[in-house]
Amino acid sequence: MRQVDTQVLVVGAGPVGLTLAIDLAWHGVQVTVVERRHRGEPPSVKCNHVAARSMEIFRRLGIASALRNAGLPPDYPNDVSYRTTTIGMELARIPIPCRAERYTDKSGPDGWWPTAEPPHRINQIYLEPILFNHAEALPGLRILSRAEVVAVEQSVDGARAQVRDLETGQRRVLSSRYLVGCDGGRSDIRGAIGATLTGDAVVQKVQSTFIRAPGLLGLMREKPAWGTFSTNPRRSGNVYAIDGRELWLIHNYLRPDEADFESVNRDRCIRLILGVGPDFQYEIVSKEDWIGRRLVADRFRDRRIFICGDAAHLWVPMAGYGMNAGIADAANLAWLMAAVLDGWAGPAILDAYEAERRPITQQVSYFAMDHAIALSKQRAAIPDNIEDPGAEGVAARARFGKELYDLNVAQYCCGGLNFGYFYDRSPIIAYDGESPPPYTMCDFTPSTVPGCRAPHIWLKDGRPLYDALGPGYTLLRFDRRIDVAAFVSATTVERVPLAVLDIDAGDGNSPYAQSLVLLRPDQHIAWRGNRLPARPESLVRLIKGGVQQSERGAVDDT
Ligand SMILES: Cc1cc2nc3c(=O)[nH]c(=O)nc-3n(C[C@H](O)[C@H](O)[C@H](O)COP(=O)(O)OP(=O)(O)OC[C@H]3O[C@@H](n4cnc5c(N)ncnc54)[C@H](O)[C@@H]3O)c2cc1C
Repeated sequence: MRQVDTQVLVVGAGPVGLTLAIDLAWHGVQVTVVERRHRGEPPSVKCNHVAARSMEIFRRLGIASALRNAGLPPDYPNDVSYRTTTIGMELARIPIPCRAERYTDKSGPDGWWPTAEPPHRINQIYLEPILFNHAEALPGLRILSRAEVVAVEQSVDGARAQVRDLETGQRRVLSSRYLVGCDGGRSDIRGAIGATLTGDAVVQKVQSTFIRAPGLLGLMREKPAWGTFSTNPRRSGNVYAIDGRELWLIHNYLRPDEADFESVNRDRCIRLILGVGPDFQYEIVSKEDWIGRRLVADRFRDRRIFICGDAAHLWVPMAGYGMNAGIADAANLAWLMAAVLDGWAGPAILDAYEAERRPITQQVSYFAMDHAIALSKQRAAIPDNIEDPGAEGVAARARFGKELYDLNVAQYCCGGLNFGYFYDRSPIIAYDGESPPPYTMCDFTPSTVPGCRAPHIWLKDGRPLYDALGPGYTLLRFDRRIDVAAFVSATTVERVPLAVLDIDAGDGNSPYAQSLVLLRPDQHIAWRGNRLPARPESLVRLIKGGVQQSERGAVDDT
């Protein structure tokens, strides 16, 4: 093979590109990231929620603590509050533990998470610089800021990107084994691989404004919250606390009869959502009007070029699952690519990326769109008397408040989206005939069916299971009497990295019923059984992507 400048070239240092680059470097891959923005420049104010599954990934990568220590003040409530206006009467409240109590408060609908890393509320403007600083310090990882990829091409043994320096205008060519477009919703790499977004082009139009309003907190009659939804017949919208003091992000949902952003008076709507008069002072920091969509690319890859994150899928970010789905893509692709570049797997293992991630992103896109449509219907049904001071108003607020709570607890405490998804048509998972348990946006059943995320358990030494896993595959052995030497030897022959982890039988509630469970580097289950397969070498060939579809039957029967 020809000499290359870097093993993997990542286009875009958004949250997905940075996570991918960090994960690749964690696996020992040399990676270069090209980003238009200035070094460490924060993005526009967008995502406010790092999902539990993303935090698990960040924990493995050694970034979870730094993220957990940033964002809202430690004691600022992370709740979601439904009110008549931001400073008005409260109809319902979804309690979510504040940062200081996130690991200890197990009460309420958001306290049950079966993981060592529950969700974290932090805006992307604080998240990305932390990822950037971490990435920049890693050996083997290089970030080219103020540079853009203007063209890409590929051959049988690599990809080439033409990179333009945005300060000097100079161009150069960077060659790599693989190239990944993490270049956001307007991705050029998506076009370059001939992928097309398909789905629903318009689900919800939103006028978003980032404001500085030091006086707002003091006007609130209710306890502050992370998310505050204004629910009145005049204007509905929501307000996210960004710094817990004076910065707020306001989303103003356009009604179906409001065709364009220009026809909607921004200032008037902001005041109606906040519930303040013309004297109230605020300053606009930035504004962004956007259209919530439901679009998924028809392919995530063309040979050596891949797309990840918003480049591959876009939807209205209900349940805070736009960025987080992209982070899951990155964690999936990183170890597959590292396996090939490390030489223990052939290129066929990369087929798993699209086979596993595309169906999941399709599912999430529908969850998000269906929820957005349900919310829109709910906004249209706000009772006229919701602000009445009398008994009828009290009753209307109680009734509508319950409806708001019931619908939205599913998206704000979305355990199903985090942990319920499974890879059910992967070329590198040994299925055993049992179907994974169905899941919804909020509910899921922890399961060891191959393809599922490995259920979290605490080990006897107090560590979470994930902290004890090896960097490659890990064989969990719940019965030390089982001799696994034949499997270990087969992995050695095939150069598949493997750790064996002995776990003493848990209590009766442990979701691990089988004696042997094989976990992939991304914490999904590759195989399980009560004894080793008759031909361990067949299983090893399957998990490294070396088994054709026509040969599968024999392996799945092992
Ligand atoms: C208002 C709003 C609210 C949101 N809220 C949430 C939420 O609560 N939860 C959630 O999960 N998601 C949310 N999202 C979605 C979330 O912001 C995106 O999913 C996320 O930013 C996608 O990350 P990404 O890295 O794929 O792309 P981006 O963040 O778009 O990053 C792409 C990067 O690539 C760079 N780039 C592009 N082209 C090139 C090129 N040719 N050369 C070099 N660099 C290039 C860009 O400069 C950019 O930095 C929200 C989005 C919006 C608009």
